[in-house]
Amino acid sequence: LYERKPFISGNWKLNPQSKDEAVALASGIAGSITESSPDAEVALFVPYVFIESAQSAVGGKLSIGAEGVCPQGNGAYTGAISAPMLNSIGVNWVLAGHSERREIFGETDEYINEQCLKIIDEGMSVMLCIGESLAEFEQDLAGSVCAVQLKKGLKGIKKEDLGRVAIAYEPVWAIGTGKVATPEIAQSVHETCRSIIAKIYDDEAAQDMRILYGGSVSPESVDDLMKQPDIDGALVGGASLDSDKFGRIINFQK
Ligand code: PEP
Repeated sequence: LYERKPFISGNWKLNPQSKDEAVALASGIAGSITESSPDAEVALFVPYVFIESAQSAVGGKLSIGAEGVCPQGNGAYTGAISAPMLNSIGVNWVLAGHSERREIFGETDEYINEQCLKIIDEGMSVMLCIGESLAEFEQDLAGSVCAVQLKKGLKGIKKEDLGRVAIAYEPVWAIGTGKVATPEIAQSVHETCRSIIAKIYDDEAAQDMRILYGGSVSPESVDDLMKQPDIDGALVGGASLDSDKFGRIINFQK
């Protein structure tokens, strides 16, 4: 009934450490996309300073996104990067709400919502990351944590703009730990997230929304994750720094 285009994305975080390495990695990843690859959208979220050289390196085979944005439009915000700045260099996708931003940089749901609104307002697309901590998971709170983060993160985004929104469910206990959620656990939270989106908007919005899984996705785990009905893609940290591994993830088999 509903066809959601698969979406494979990588998040380089604070890597790599030089422009030369970034260009080599981006072109290696682009090289893994062939005519026989799945019909999927592919994006890499990279450090700001590498965006333009990575764009040139991939030659339009995938999109180069930004790892974050400052919601202020302009002014006295030393060190910040605005949505118009990103838009002006051809960025389409921007991450918001990554657990590292929430934890290490103290970003709140309200601040993340401001980022989402600004990204949408500027005509770009946002990947909103949500997910529970280990303690919350153990107390069976994954669904309720995601409900709060979804409601607050999406606040004020109109239904007609949802085509420019994707959700990444990333259980914090699975990020960078090598402990990937089982396909069953991930599927169950994705299904819950979809029902929360149906409550916030409606069933059509929920069925159209792409919900990606993130947390230690690897060449070994991607296929079984992608077989789940409510898992529409992956947000990949560590394995996106290796062109062979990420290439294999892009070429997932359902
Ligand atoms: C991430 O940073 O979004 C992530 C999922 O990292 P990793 O794949 O390394 O767990």
